[in-house]
Amino acid sequence: MRRRDLLKGLSALPVVGGFSGTVLETQPAPVAKRDLFKELGLRTFINAAGVYTSMTASLMPPEVLEAISSGAEEYVMLDDVQDKVGEKIAALCHAEAAMVTAGCWSALVLGMAGILTGMDTKKVAQLPFLAGTGMKSEVIVQKTHANGYHMALTNAGVTIVIVETGEEVEKAINEKTALLWFLNREAPEGKIKHQEWLDIAKKHNLPTMIDIAADVPPVENLWKYNDMGFDLVCISGGKAMRGPQSAGLLMGKKHLIAAARLSAPPRAGIARGQKVNKEEILGMYVALEKYIKHDHAKEWKMWEQKIALIDTAVKGIGGVKTEIVLPPVANHTPSLSITWDSTKVKLTRDELCEKLRKGTPSIEVIGWEAENNIRLTVFMLKPGQEKVVAQRIREELQHASA
Ligand SMILES: *Cc1c(COP(=O)(O)O)cnc(C)c1O
Repeated sequence: MRRRDLLKGLSALPVVGGFSGTVLETQPAPVAKRDLFKELGLRTFINAAGVYTSMTASLMPPEVLEAISSGAEEYVMLDDVQDKVGEKIAALCHAEAAMVTAGCWSALVLGMAGILTGMDTKKVAQLPFLAGTGMKSEVIVQKTHANGYHMALTNAGVTIVIVETGEEVEKAINEKTALLWFLNREAPEGKIKHQEWLDIAKKHNLPTMIDIAADVPPVENLWKYNDMGFDLVCISGGKAMRGPQSAGLLMGKKHLIAAARLSAPPRAGIARGQKVNKEEILGMYVALEKYIKHDHAKEWKMWEQKIALIDTAVKGIGGVKTEIVLPPVANHTPSLSITWDSTKVKLTRDELCEKLRKGTPSIEVIGWEAENNIRLTVFMLKPGQEKVVAQRIREELQHASA
């Protein structure tokens, strides 16, 4: 029963004895819908760029919003929600255990903390100061994988040891080595691939962790790396899965998840400030479940159709060339690359991006590659927006080539 219905029910009961001297609660007034974007003067836009943290990543579907709003109607114990939701997530993703974290970054911090401390609460209280505690303090990372996100691990006090080859990993391993960390997005760039990384770790009895933050689709990636044998897998909840942007998942070995939770709310560890409220824990669970059940093949076809529509609209313009590209990992969806001959289309990339941004409606595309190129995706568009995107880009390119 909803709180509103409960209050309605109570107020219908006959009053016995009266309430003289007490303050009567009144029913809350119905809440009017506010347009906060308008009130605050916030620019909203059509997202033809993809899933980017700075652009608020993705829009939550109604099922997730419903989970969040009905989740706000009752008290539960925070540990109980993590227990129950964690069990479901683990089963869905072929992991022994799982927890909802405050984004993928927080999953990296918490996973690292769990590896360092185990179930020793004295160690939990000592993080991030490792010297003299008996805790290990080094994490091995490939050079091409060390592009910023690995810094999350240093929140727990560890230092990063950079390597390039399998031989260098072997040399770098010592009694202080805590973890072998892998960034899935950079797998094509790194010399050491997934299986070799796992084999080296296994040989030395060391744990492994993989960051797959933005790496669905494909949906199979949700369990692929658990199946492959990574001890911990970290992913963002609010990217293509369309859960809350401030949520993420830490999945993996049972003893490591249990240990990670010692550093997270409601306890006062290093991740006490990375709280996920029960509403978002529930929202994350529903987002994951919905994402797994989704007809991905059908959606992929729809994306291809939308890309084809935009492609057709712009490729006839003189001096304009298009190419349909598929990024191998992260934002792995059909994308359209539009390049123009600057002598025929007198427009720089930045000018085009600005015109699209300042137009009505405002549109964001990817404009940080070549000077005469933009790139776009359609997987974050609302129904019908592909037509607006096609028309606006065509308009601007044609105008600049007149
Ligand atoms: C987005 C991202 C993160 C951070 O994820 P949040 O969910 O925003 O905390 C970490 N690693 C990679 C590779 C990412 O793309």
